[in-house]
Amino acid sequence: MDSIFKSLAEIVGESHVSSQPEELYIYSYDLGTTEPHRPDYIVAPRTTHEVQEIVKLANRGKIPVVPLGGGLSLAGLAVPQRGGIVLDLKRMDTIIEVNGKARYVVVEAGVSQGQLISYLEKYHPKLRHSEPQAPGPATIAGNVAIHGQGDLAQPYGFNSDMVNGLEVVLPTGELCKIGSCSVSPIWFTLHPLPDLGLFLGWSGTTGIITKLSLKLFPSKRIREVEQFIVEDAELVPEIIYKISHTEMAEDIFAGTQTTIPARMGLHHVTMYITADSEKELEFKTGLIWDDALGEYIRNGDGGFVDLPPPIKARFTERPSMLLSTVADAKEGGGFEYVGGIMPMETYPECCKRGAEICSRHDIPQLLIARVIGRSHSMMFAWAYVFNRADLESIRQAREAVHETDDLVLELGGAIWKPGVYGQRLMMQRIDPTTLKLMEMVKGLLDPNGIMNPGNWEAV
Ligand SMILES: Cc1cc2nc3c(=O)[nH]c(=O)nc-3n(C[C@H](O)[C@H](O)[C@H](O)COP(=O)(O)OP(=O)(O)OC[C@H]3O[C@@H](n4cnc5c(N)ncnc54)[C@H](O)[C@@H]3O)c2cc1C
Repeated sequence: MDSIFKSLAEIVGESHVSSQPEELYIYSYDLGTTEPHRPDYIVAPRTTHEVQEIVKLANRGKIPVVPLGGGLSLAGLAVPQRGGIVLDLKRMDTIIEVNGKARYVVVEAGVSQGQLISYLEKYHPKLRHSEPQAPGPATIAGNVAIHGQGDLAQPYGFNSDMVNGLEVVLPTGELCKIGSCSVSPIWFTLHPLPDLGLFLGWSGTTGIITKLSLKLFPSKRIREVEQFIVEDAELVPEIIYKISHTEMAEDIFAGTQTTIPARMGLHHVTMYITADSEKELEFKTGLIWDDALGEYIRNGDGGFVDLPPPIKARFTERPSMLLSTVADAKEGGGFEYVGGIMPMETYPECCKRGAEICSRHDIPQLLIARVIGRSHSMMFAWAYVFNRADLESIRQAREAVHETDDLVLELGGAIWKPGVYGQRLMMQRIDPTTLKLMEMVKGLLDPNGIMNPGNWEAV
């Protein structure tokens, strides 16, 4: 037994550390196009103290540490580029506290979104969090670590904007708290302390989030879905502007695809409307139909689709499996999407150029935009399915991903959760003083460069 294995086993117990080749293999890749890299060890701590001890050990030996939640971020962000230790946080799965009146939940890093959904449904049915369309095992911490977005993005923004407080193990092994929890036992707000935005959006390169407080929101009794269809992509930004003006929709998507033949060439604007009573639902739906979309119906530019109940049920199931189902259209288990955080008005161009990339690489078109804020921006997803057993299919999808990264920047957007290729593109463009500041922050926090190395590194 080597000495690092032995030290890790002393910290977490022998059954929670592994260097078995078959287990290292599983942790060497994700579902996307990133080349696999094997870790040297996998460790699954149970407590914050254990995380601290592991990081101290790694810091002493200058061993890379890669935090892992559900491993579903798809861009290779938790693939250990330089080997080292993969810190699998799934055992840290306690929902510590729900404050119903102040509407927040405090969770450990390994709590998955599926777990939180079931817990709230069972014990706090009037509360919910902003749920991403990611599969159930995706963690809350992993999601905020990459600035994820869920179904309350339209009114409230990114999930990382919904964080009330953090407990973080720094790359030195020290523990720090951010937000009201640093001065009080109550984790109810991030402000008004001086801003220390050092951990959200950094993809695990500045520290390990071990606990976090997340805002919860009212969970309405009824969740209805409506779909409006238009042929002309140019109309979509205006339609979304008008729907968001009513402030009646909880979540809005727009998209086009070739995976369902009957929908080819059409743009569907899908909106979720929630209510506690039929009367509230009727009022909200009426405003959207009449005030926002009435003119398009009268002009013959678009119309609502009558979704049969089984299809509606698929749209409203939680966690949503909608995207996961189409993600395997090539039946080879390969899926990656580039998410551009884009200005709404670029929707038609995003679709046009996305269609070109798909046809060049023989990939079915799956283009979906989620509205963030009141039309403030959208996360436009260019999704690429591929067959993991077919090297040519992987190569084509990888090329499509890289071309799309270029496109996002060309159209004035920013790449969300970029993989290493996208990170480098962004770093070439970033304002030089901002880049210098990022490097200083990183150097200060992680002097030995052990945290998820390979990511957000200048070349
Ligand atoms: C079908 C499908 C649909 C999706 N839909 C959405 C969606 O609607 N919205 C959305 O936001 N995302 C979506 N995703 C992307 C992704 O699954 C989610 O963002 C997910 O929440 C990421 O969490 P994770 O636990 O899988 O993170 P991981 O992949 O495990 O980690 C993500 C990054 O954060 C780091 N990290 C993980 N945990 C920590 C921690 N505790 N401290 C510090 N760093 C950490 C990792 O090192 C990595 O760099 C989707 C993915 C799929 C496959």
